[in-house]
Amino acid sequence: NAFAALGLAPELLQAVSDMGYTQPTPVQLRAIPLALQKADAQQSAHYVDLMVSSQTGSGKTAAFLLPVLHTLIEMDIKAKEQEKADFERGVAEALARGEEAPRKPRRKNPLNRKFTAAEPGALVLCPTRELAMQVANDAIDLIRHNRGIRIASVIGGLPYPKQIAQLQNARLVVATPGRLLDLQRSGQIKLEGVQFLVLDEADRMLDLGFAEDLEEISRLTEQRRQTMMFSATFAPRIQKLAMSVMHDNGRNAQ
Ligand code: AMP
Repeated sequence: NAFAALGLAPELLQAVSDMGYTQPTPVQLRAIPLALQKADAQQSAHYVDLMVSSQTGSGKTAAFLLPVLHTLIEMDIKAKEQEKADFERGVAEALARGEEAPRKPRRKNPLNRKFTAAEPGALVLCPTRELAMQVANDAIDLIRHNRGIRIASVIGGLPYPKQIAQLQNARLVVATPGRLLDLQRSGQIKLEGVQFLVLDEADRMLDLGFAEDLEEISRLTEQRRQTMMFSATFAPRIQKLAMSVMHDNGRNAQ
């Protein structure tokens, strides 16, 4: 499987192979290694920002989902190791004091949990509900072997409890810009924890009048480590948007 050379997590390679993908498409071949590259030799927390020219049908969705999901998996593994190390240190310290060791915290059923705002680590913005649903479904397919990582789409519909619970636990949220800002303003979602921002079909989002919403979302996610912009064209207005949302003014992948 030629995907293995791209440095992706084994669970993602398995999912890609389940889906019958044998070869990365050209846009995947170029964008995935760049997206996984750290922005400097010191391996800082920042990744390279990408501006990718790609058409529908080129495999662009997996070109951004695979590196984002890979990094979410890595962060999840690190967080679990940290949690385990903290717990073990707590046990050792209690025993050293001659106290009873603390018990392992039990995972709560998310449906019984008190409402807290969703705090996704990654955000994909799409021009339409249809595209957002399709991207969310692709992400669910690709993350099938990593049960702990949840995906949610924010595209309207009734906020029945399960949908809210699903959103609360989501690490990756796929959304249309207007609906996302509605949820942000009503306090249902917090964007401060977003580390990866993807603008899918950026040209169509501008056509639909989302420029101001995109700039606002960009401001709300100022702490992020990476921005990826996918667009069919690089017309001047797309470059203008890139200048305002990217940290390092983008790097051309294709
Ligand atoms: P997209 O350009 O993201 O809309 O993808 C177009 C179609 O190509 C989708 O149906 C994907 O499931 C499929 N696809 C994406 N990557 C690959 C690949 N490496 N090999 C075969 N099919 C793929």
